[in-house]
Amino acid sequence: MLLTISTTHSPATDLGYLLYKNPARTQSFDLAFGQAHVFYPLASTERCTVALVLDVDPVGLVRGRRGPESDGPLSQYVNDRPYVASSFLSVAISDVFGSAMTGRSKDRPELAQQVLPFEVRLAVVPCKGGEAFLRRLFEPLGYTVGAESQPLDLTVPEWGASRYFVVTLNGEKRLADLLAHLYVLIPVLDDEKHYWVGDDEVEKLLRHGEGWLATHPEKDVITRRYLKHQRSLVLDAVARLTTEETPDEEDAAPAVRDAEEGTLERPINLNEQRLATVLGALRGSGATSVVDLGCGEGRLLRMLLDDRQFTRIVGMDVSHRALEIAVDRLMLDRMPAMQRERIALLHGSLMYRDQRLAGFDAAAVVEVIEHLDPPRLAAFERVAFEFARPRTVVVTTPNAEYNVKWETLPAGRFRHRDHRFEWTREQFQHWATSIAERFGYGVRFAPVGPVDPVLGSPTQMGVFTLGGQDG
Ligand code: SAH
Repeated sequence: MLLTISTTHSPATDLGYLLYKNPARTQSFDLAFGQAHVFYPLASTERCTVALVLDVDPVGLVRGRRGPESDGPLSQYVNDRPYVASSFLSVAISDVFGSAMTGRSKDRPELAQQVLPFEVRLAVVPCKGGEAFLRRLFEPLGYTVGAESQPLDLTVPEWGASRYFVVTLNGEKRLADLLAHLYVLIPVLDDEKHYWVGDDEVEKLLRHGEGWLATHPEKDVITRRYLKHQRSLVLDAVARLTTEETPDEEDAAPAVRDAEEGTLERPINLNEQRLATVLGALRGSGATSVVDLGCGEGRLLRMLLDDRQFTRIVGMDVSHRALEIAVDRLMLDRMPAMQRERIALLHGSLMYRDQRLAGFDAAAVVEVIEHLDPPRLAAFERVAFEFARPRTVVVTTPNAEYNVKWETLPAGRFRHRDHRFEWTREQFQHWATSIAERFGYGVRFAPVGPVDPVLGSPTQMGVFTLGGQDG
């Protein structure tokens, strides 16, 4: 079992001060279930990598265990435990990097508080729930996730993939936060804890989950799996998590990724054309109250504010960081009272039915649906069209057919790393028409951006009208 953490912060060897581990030395630690070794395969000013090798003693694991395993005595000896990232690794992380986990550093106190670029590699991780679940755990925290699936048997390809992955995570984080994410989420992926879970596990979860777990979209599964499905503990933890204050998110990653998509689409200034088209559709609907679902950094909100037709404007997003940027950009703190009363920002997720989203004339959902995995898309459909149920819903999403026009975009790649899908016009229209039918809306389609006679436009828009006619 191997965990490596690399940074390109300069000087990268400062990682040694943060971890309280000298890059020039190899150290070994005795743990209850084996040994942990720490060393640096690479330590230069530009890049530094620390490795934690966990050497679990498989025979030691079995000794001292009372009673037979439910799945037969052989499984005690023949199992994956010595070789995979599991709760053993979490214990090793907290034993070996315990000081770093407190977020303090004797020699580099400011650096320990700073967000630094990190790359984590974990070989191998058992993922109950597969790659999709892995992504649902780490992506909301602002990591770019790489998952290399391992075949069940190299020599028998038809057996397909195993539940094991080599995982890479890239993100800008405080080291202490990164370690806390790993500490909590590795056993959650594995879903099999090696020790008895008691009351103090709730405290551990809340302590290491501080600042991120309460707002994590998967907090319920995380809590359930972390506490080994012990109902009373889970209820306790969930109740306490929801009363915690909403903490700040510290990921810069979404901004980076948006910048990437921005660069790609800049030559035709698609972003502005898109927002202008959406604004036109909202205006044309006669709406005076609008909710912008997945408002991001608030570009559409700005345009809505500048138009007196709109008297009640609300932006909602799951990313706390995006909302903070929106507050800054819109200068909400310095806005005159009259103006200020027209607008509100909400922190929330489109995955959950939310009373606050009801009662609007119109909703905008601009470049959001492609960020949702298919099962979550189904939740969004009900949240928007069944529960929020505004008279008008304006949805935009990339037109995948147009991607070949972007020379800098490799074939088969999406425009944005976080996109779960990009649809052709036919796929989008098929989806939209079935939604309209299901929820009693009519829908019309319009291109956004320059129209290619064969490929269509770079963005596609659907305007849904409650009870309206198609066309
Ligand atoms: N509408 C904005 C932002 C588009 S980027 C614009 O056009 O500029 C997609 C946005 O959707 C991001 O801000 C992301 O945080 C948000 N998002 C993704 N999943 C979400 C969810 N489940 N609930 C609410 N917002 C979500």
